[in-house]
Amino acid sequence: MAGTASSPAARIKSLTELVQNSGLYPNNPIVNSATTEPVIWVDGRDHLLFCSNNLLGLSNHSEVKATAQKALERYGLGSGGSRQMAANIDVHRALEQRIAEFVGQEDAICFAAGYMANVGVIPALMKVDFLQSLAETHLGNSSVDKIGEDDTAGWEVFSEELNHASVVDGVRLAKAKISKFPHKNIKRLAEALGMSKMPSKLIVSDGVFSMDGDIAPIPAIADLAREHDAMLMIDDAHGVGMLGANGRGSLEHHGVASTDVDLQMGTFTKAFGGVGGYVAGDKEVIDFLRISARTYIFSAPLPPAIAAGVTEAIDIAEREPWRREKALENAFYFRREVESRGYRTLGSEAHIVPTLIGDELKAAEVTRLLRHRGIIAPHARYPAVALGQARIRFVMTCQHEREQIDFLLGCLAEMRETLNL
Ligand code: PMP
Repeated sequence: MAGTASSPAARIKSLTELVQNSGLYPNNPIVNSATTEPVIWVDGRDHLLFCSNNLLGLSNHSEVKATAQKALERYGLGSGGSRQMAANIDVHRALEQRIAEFVGQEDAICFAAGYMANVGVIPALMKVDFLQSLAETHLGNSSVDKIGEDDTAGWEVFSEELNHASVVDGVRLAKAKISKFPHKNIKRLAEALGMSKMPSKLIVSDGVFSMDGDIAPIPAIADLAREHDAMLMIDDAHGVGMLGANGRGSLEHHGVASTDVDLQMGTFTKAFGGVGGYVAGDKEVIDFLRISARTYIFSAPLPPAIAAGVTEAIDIAEREPWRREKALENAFYFRREVESRGYRTLGSEAHIVPTLIGDELKAAEVTRLLRHRGIIAPHARYPAVALGQARIRFVMTCQHEREQIDFLLGCLAEMRETLNL
């Protein structure tokens, strides 16, 4: 559409061109095969993939696919609406009960994506006082004559500085007072909690940090939550299915009881090979979210075939611990070897292994050169990470073989020389 040079559309187009010409625009390849396998088909040839979140190889598992196919036949492609309208389907409920049991909570609520879970649940919690006045008014036993206009008055959210974008957005949507605390800095969190005058507090932290691959100090955070009577929510998108003796996630990794955390959030997109998100906790809290989380009420749930397939994937993840053990072994090996070749891995402890490049353009160049060598590994850069902290974010899965990792290491060693990294 035509417009003046200063119209919003013209300014958007010119900015896009600027980024595209800078070499920083993410030119992700079009893949002509399953992107959940370690070898994918791009530009008419095989490439090694080191950024898939199909950590346990369950996306393409024959039993998972058979279960999903059966459900596809029975329920069709979509859900036909939101859970509160047409689509309160048995497979959704079965998945909620299964994931709650897996992570050791009473119940769970599912969403079409992990992102939807975070942006729905965090603001929903803070509507409790507003909904209470509404309920009292409508139930006719209240002296409340004015329903609160500010849903979230009285709440303060203590949010980890490196929390995932979906947590950041959920916190912003809540419109509560926000106190960001520095990465894994328990002292600063304690100080902020101590200074807070707010009657209602929520602490929210990722379990495993998505850009650094390190693990939150959950025992110390849980102690502070108890001490300050704060709610505690852990986003364990990267921990669930992967960490702990039984794969229950970051809490199990640290020996923290699930009862020490109010809400455990996670996604079905990573270890469980599907798509969708959940939040697990006490039954009444989950029931409250069903009447307050807007992304649950006003959006369709994950497709029934996916819900059934993911439920099967959880069963397999539970009975086949070798999958997470091999993914973590691969990560351990890669981390040790890449560090010995002079790269910094930013405190990574799990299957996400970033290698710091620093400069944004140099990181883009590394991704480009790796692709020439038949390796797909995108870089993460500002604003996903701090300026000057660009990195290649490698993800190790149980499907990677040692020779594939060695080939990657060889390419990285060579590039360190040629690019002067
Ligand atoms: N939380 C964290 C920590 C994540 O890394 C992600 C996805 N990268 C999400 C939430 C969102 O999950 P989903 O992809 O299911 O929307």
